Amino acid sequence: MKINQQKMVERFLRYIQIDTQSNENSTTYPSTEKQLVLSKLLVKELKEIGIKTVELTDHGYVFATLPSTLPKKHDKTVPVIGLIAHVDTSPDVSGSGVTPVIHQNYQGGGIRLSKDPSLVIQPETDPAIKNCLGHDIITSDGTTLLGADNKAGIAEIMTAVDYLVNNPDTQHGEIRIAFTVDEEVGQGTKHFDPKKFGAKYAYTIDGETAGELEIETFCADTVIVTVKGVNIHPGYAKDKMVNSIKIAAELITQLPKDRMSPETTEKREGYLHPNTFTANVEESTIKFLIRDFTVEGLKEREAYLENLLSSILKKYPKASGKFQVEESYRNMRYILDNYPHVTDYAREAIERSGLKPSISLIRGGTDGARLSYMGLPTPNIFTGGHNFHSKREWISIQDMLKASEVIIHLVQIWAEKREKV
Ligand SMILES: [Zn+2]
Repeated sequence: MKINQQKMVERFLRYIQIDTQSNENSTTYPSTEKQLVLSKLLVKELKEIGIKTVELTDHGYVFATLPSTLPKKHDKTVPVIGLIAHVDTSPDVSGSGVTPVIHQNYQGGGIRLSKDPSLVIQPETDPAIKNCLGHDIITSDGTTLLGADNKAGIAEIMTAVDYLVNNPDTQHGEIRIAFTVDEEVGQGTKHFDPKKFGAKYAYTIDGETAGELEIETFCADTVIVTVKGVNIHPGYAKDKMVNSIKIAAELITQLPKDRMSPETTEKREGYLHPNTFTANVEESTIKFLIRDFTVEGLKEREAYLENLLSSILKKYPKASGKFQVEESYRNMRYILDNYPHVTDYAREAIERSGLKPSISLIRGGTDGARLSYMGLPTPNIFTGGHNFHSKREWISIQDMLKASEVIIHLVQIWAEKREKV
C-alpha cells in the first residue's frame, strides 16, 4: 500500500496551526466560531481530492460521501460505513499559535520540548515512546497543546480518502465522512442526525496508542445532593441553627479515602467523585460524578451514597436532603456486543496493517458512545497520538501512517465480508 506520507504530514501540520479550541461556557453552536475555519478548509480540501458530495451543515459538521467502487448488485449487502473525527481541541490548554517540532529518528531517551525541564517526554513517564524507536515524533514547542486530538484523526481519514480516490481498484462500499465540532465540551453529537448521516456503522478515529481499538466507555450519572438546613442570625442561633455546610461537609469526609475516587482507581474500577460544592448555611449542593463500567456497578455506588446521606441526616432532624440522579451516558459495549462484526472487522484491519490489536476501554465517554445509543454503533480506533489535552502531547508519523492504513483495510474488509457474520 503506497500512502503519501509527506502529504499526510503536511495536512496534519496545516490543521494543527488553526486554533479550534472549543469553549464550555459558550451559548452558541458550535461553541466557538473559529472551529468553522478548519471545517471550511476541510470542505475545500475534500473537493480538491475529488469528493463530489460535500456539505457543511447548519451546525458546522462536515458531511461527505465517497461512493462505492463495487458493482451495483452489492450495494445492499455492503453497509455504508462512517468515519468520524472532531475539529475542536480541548479548552484545558491553549491551541493558539501551535508551533510543531518534528524530532526525527527517535533513538530513545527523553525528548525535550522547551527550556522548562518538566516538559520532557521520556520512557519512564511515557512508556509508549519505547515502541517508537526510529520513528519521527511530532510535538509542540511546549507552549501549547499539539492538537493531535483530533486533527491526527482528520489527517488520517483525509489521507485514506485521498488514497481510495486515487486507487479506484480498491473495493469498498459507500463511505460517509463526518468532521464534528465541540466534542471536547461534550456536545459533539448534539445536532448529529444519524439518519441524515446515513451510515449503518461508524468508527471514530480518536484513540491513542497504535493498535488500540476501544469498545468500552464508562457508564456515567450525575448525582445532585441538596442539603437544606435552618438559617438564623448567628448571634441568636443557639439550638435553632442547622448549618447545611457542615452536614454536606460531613458527607464528603465520610467518603472512603482509599477507594471509589478518581485518585485511587484505575482500569475497570469505578468511582464516585464530588466535583462541585456550592454552599451557604441554608442550603448546600454537591454535584457527584458517578462512574462504572456496568449499570449495576453504577447503581451500587449511588445506593451507597444515598445510604450514607440518610444515615448522616438522621442526626439532624431539622435538616432535610434531596438525592437526584441524572443519567449522562452508558457504556457503548452494551450496544457493540450486539454487532460483534463491527469490532471483529476493525481488529482484522489492525492485524492486516501489521500491528497487534489491543482491545481496550476508555475511562470516560466518547461521541461514539452517544452515537451507539443513537442507533449508530461506533467504536474508537487509535490515531497514534498520546498525552491528549496537554502541552506534552506527541504523535509518531509512522503510527499515523498505520492509522490511515487501518482505515483503508477496514473499508475493504467490509466489502469482502459484507453483512455475513
Ligand atoms: Zn478527541
